[in-house]
Amino acid sequence: MTAPLVTPIERPVLEAPNGAKKVLLHSCCAPCSGEVMEAMLASGIEYTVFFYNPNIHPLKEYEIRKHENIAFAEKHGVPFIDADYDVDNWFARAKGMEHEPERGIRCTMCFDMRFERTALYAYENGFPVITSSLGISRWKNMNQINDCGVRAAAKYPGITYWEYNWRKGGGSARMIEISKREHFYQQEYCGCAYSLRDSNAHRRSQGREPIRIGEKYYGDDTQES
Ligand code: SF4
Repeated sequence: MTAPLVTPIERPVLEAPNGAKKVLLHSCCAPCSGEVMEAMLASGIEYTVFFYNPNIHPLKEYEIRKHENIAFAEKHGVPFIDADYDVDNWFARAKGMEHEPERGIRCTMCFDMRFERTALYAYENGFPVITSSLGISRWKNMNQINDCGVRAAAKYPGITYWEYNWRKGGGSARMIEISKREHFYQQEYCGCAYSLRDSNAHRRSQGREPIRIGEKYYGDDTQES
């Protein structure tokens, strides 16, 4: 099967830190990683997708996000590492932070946990650079994510976290464009049980229905996440 064409748009030619030829991309989902993946492909950067997201709850949501990401990686011929779903460890680390707001300390813990595993895999498998699709979302605090990435990489000699701002140069718009083109699943909360609870509470306060997992897809209506 021929690989799908990369969206024909002008992109800056990217270079990984220290001219590294191999990058391990931590991916949270297909919509966020779509542009990151195509941007690296367009620059000829060799990379592997690392899917480690034990925060995602419930399992049905996790499976949807993961399998869509696998399918997109296959479409582009990109290797995909399906790491553990050690959800018990995630809940253990989140203990006492159940009511923290989004972008607070629970999220720092959540990014730390995911990046620590990414950095360990990179160290053990010869990837000098790690990066993440998490920062492309406008709902996230990029400084918080970068701090976590740098902290995780610093635990292992020779590993660098690539702090590239994937939103710039039209990256945010292309993220939406690719999501619509691919008819990706449109998640309606960040991922964990607490973000699902809080998103539903917010919807209730507005007289809206609770989130229905697995039902919303990019391009089905004009609303964008
Ligand atoms: S809101 Fe998102 S980033 Fe924060 S803890 Fe939950 S899943 Fe992790």
